[in-house]
Amino acid sequence: MRTICYKCLRPVETCLCKYVPPFEPGIKFVFLMHPKEAKRNRTGTGRVAHAGLIDSEILVGIDFTKHQRLCELLADERYYPVLLYPGEDAWNAQKEGFKAQIGNKKLLAIIIDSTWFCSKKMIKLSTNIMALPKLSFAKSYRSIYTFKKEPSEECVSTIETCYYLIKEMQEAEIVDKSVNPECLMTAFKELIKLQLQKENDRIDGKLPNSHATDFKYTTKKVIPDF
Ligand SMILES: [Zn+2]
Repeated sequence: MRTICYKCLRPVETCLCKYVPPFEPGIKFVFLMHPKEAKRNRTGTGRVAHAGLIDSEILVGIDFTKHQRLCELLADERYYPVLLYPGEDAWNAQKEGFKAQIGNKKLLAIIIDSTWFCSKKMIKLSTNIMALPKLSFAKSYRSIYTFKKEPSEECVSTIETCYYLIKEMQEAEIVDKSVNPECLMTAFKELIKLQLQKENDRIDGKLPNSHATDFKYTTKKVIPDF
């Protein structure tokens, strides 16, 4: 049996944790995962982000209204919890009053780290998280690479979400300027390269290919040199 890294759930040979030495990001990140995806999170980036972000947590569930740990965190006076979610009523780092709203508390950023399909049910059932103040980005971002089919081009991966959120909170002077989140992007770039290499290995017959007749899976990918 292959040895799996317990942090990023990848085979140890391709473990990405070495690219994300743990750092204190100034934000408490909580990743909500659907039980179906929590275990087979092969291309997911939440686990890699979690490996680098000190004090971050992964919580697994569908209906979080009675999730003990989440309820504890939401009731904890030290935190100002927000749900990363777009919307006209959403806060962003540049919106007037946001910094004052947080006050002396630490921002607790809850991120639904799930595919669009699985997150629908989580959103529907978890009325407690949907009732939280929402937070989105002040600027718009595009993922540096999308090997996952997202419903919209604007969708960025979970690890990029953490990266941009830290950057925006630094600009708004909510997170200290000394925090350096670059390792998150480095790890994401390595993940992209590994993923593309794997696809090419399938095309070359080095790995089993179940879609050999589909041109989408038979055209070799160009591996970026970042
Ligand atoms: Zn790892």
